[in-house]
Amino acid sequence: MKILYKYSVGTGDRFGRQGVAQLRAFQLLAQRGIKATIVWNKSNREHMIIGTKAADQRDAADKSIQAVGYKDQYCVDADHIGMHNVDSFIPYADFFTIDVADFIGKPASAERTKGFVAAYALLAQDKSAPVEITREDIENSAKKYLFAIDEAAKVYRRIHEGKPDGNFHIEVSMDETDLPQSPAELAVILAGLADAKVPVQTIAPKFTGRFNKGVDYVGDVEGFNKEFEADAKVAIWAAKAFGLPESLKLSVHSGSDKFSIYPGIKRICKALGCGFHLKTAGTTWLEELIGLAEAGGGGLALAKRVYEKAYARYDELAGPYAAVIDVSMDRLPTPAEVNSWTAERYVAALRHDKKNPLFNQDLRQLLHIGYKVAAEMGEEYLSALKTYEESISRNVTTNLFERHLKPLFLD
Ligand SMILES: [Zn+2]
Repeated sequence: MKILYKYSVGTGDRFGRQGVAQLRAFQLLAQRGIKATIVWNKSNREHMIIGTKAADQRDAADKSIQAVGYKDQYCVDADHIGMHNVDSFIPYADFFTIDVADFIGKPASAERTKGFVAAYALLAQDKSAPVEITREDIENSAKKYLFAIDEAAKVYRRIHEGKPDGNFHIEVSMDETDLPQSPAELAVILAGLADAKVPVQTIAPKFTGRFNKGVDYVGDVEGFNKEFEADAKVAIWAAKAFGLPESLKLSVHSGSDKFSIYPGIKRICKALGCGFHLKTAGTTWLEELIGLAEAGGGGLALAKRVYEKAYARYDELAGPYAAVIDVSMDRLPTPAEVNSWTAERYVAALRHDKKNPLFNQDLRQLLHIGYKVAAEMGEEYLSALKTYEESISRNVTTNLFERHLKPLFLD
């Protein structure tokens, strides 16, 4: 088993060019006394859209580590994988996010369900549990989640066959589904994962509220805090009660830019003495665009072209992300308008600064899903990343450190 630091943060790097700038943010954090594991996460969906493979992400991570002479822990996450695509990630990843959301609600065999309910019936009287777990919770959760749990176990065994030394981290994710899981359901899910012998170390439930890509949390922040605290307590308890790894902690997906929930996550984990994992991904790609725009000249022209194309292809680009964006076309500036903008104006619209009246959430979300446009530009885009490296890497580091790591760990 690979044991991460108590705190770990996922950093996506769509084009695999910002590893060094991202590491700088973690170095700044370490200089202030907090070590967090950097985990480069990339999903199969991102690989397909960009045209990269698991080996490319491993290569980008290793090269960045060498370039910086980085000594602290890092991982490469096969993000949101399943039985159908895990094989191509096994040689290159040491963190696996097994996504079984699609299997929620499928029934396991009657025999398996009955056996599980009988074996865990006593949970309903467990006074040590941090939440009340009723007999109905156990029965309903078994019906709803047992099949998904068994699927996670299958994928885990496959990974273990390919990596017999066991030196990897297992996350189970159920976040990409419609309904949030209650803390009691989470307790039964963790019992199920232990029962199926999955050494889960991070669990990503679906939390209440909207986790739109690249923008702040939408929902009741106090409600989220209560739910997060209850879930964190369940994870701490479940590790002991079911013999799961002691390092078990919650994982927050689509965690970039969720500034309003960071203080709660920080406070609750500190009070409970537990860690957390938080995934960010597209926020770094948006900093590439900001860096290009800020540089002016050809960089700004390219950033404008990305907007123009993304605007024209909104429906197509939004398809795979429909559940995690809220974009209204009437709040988007037309490409003609954007084409008339100065560098400062473009940056002000895109940079995630809610205090700036020129900041435009809709534009930010549209560009968030617009990375396909940049991917199609191929060498032209990649060479621009080199040409404008100074302003891009400065923005990548500042965004990750000032807006994410600092409020999560320091402020
Ligand atoms: Zn996710």
